[in-house]
Amino acid sequence: MRKQIAAANWKMNLTLQQANELLDEIVSKDISLTSNQQAVFGVPFPYLLLAKDKIKNSKGFFIAAQNCYTKESGAYTGEVSASMLSSCKIEYVIIGHSERREYFNEDNKMLGQKVDACLKNNLKPIFCCGESLQIREQGNQNEYIENQLKEGLFHLDSSALQNFVIAYEPIWAIGTGKTASSDLAQEMHAHIRNVFNQKYGKDIAESISILYGGSVKANNAKEIFGKKDVDGGLVGGASLNASEFLEIIGSLKSL
Ligand code: PEP
Repeated sequence: MRKQIAAANWKMNLTLQQANELLDEIVSKDISLTSNQQAVFGVPFPYLLLAKDKIKNSKGFFIAAQNCYTKESGAYTGEVSASMLSSCKIEYVIIGHSERREYFNEDNKMLGQKVDACLKNNLKPIFCCGESLQIREQGNQNEYIENQLKEGLFHLDSSALQNFVIAYEPIWAIGTGKTASSDLAQEMHAHIRNVFNQKYGKDIAESISILYGGSVKANNAKEIFGKKDVDGGLVGGASLNASEFLEIIGSLKSL
């Protein structure tokens, strides 16, 4: 079974002290994950090494950066490269979150380059896609998502996409308290899997973990994650609360 992943996206939240407390509380519960389950913590850059240290004895726990730059090194003040993250033994990088696309003008071409930088440095991208409310209301969401995937990922060969991680996050559901219904999530996840199936074949498509993001909470995670093509979630607000996030991890499908 492909990996089932509960990924926290802390965004630009928490002080160092709060980050310490949150991770301490989560780790202290000593939850056990099955071999196909993972909990991933997408923390701000200054907390990466601390978070890495905190989870070092928790099986199935991993750390993600929330972004990286396309270049390896050089005169790019303020940026962080994939090779730097790799040297810190970080496992995942969230690429193309809608907030990065919207506020930092990251387009599919640039995101494809970021994915390349991650893969070159043995980092696993969590590649985000998702449509705005306007696109959904026009009924164009399937083509829009397909285009994001094509432009961002279709330059890769199939070996790079084996066990890849996608996060489908409808923008109208992020941080709004509006969750897509589990049926709507399933419908889009099946479409995404089919897009990969058509280009790369069934084996690759079936190996890809597709996470749902958009107001996932402890009280809706089980129903959403229970859907056939939903392999967990990318969780913003609810990941800042230990008991909420623990319950969300506990909602993952298991082997
Ligand atoms: C996110 O940050 O990716 C997200 C889905 O946020 P929220 O869970 O708060 O909607």
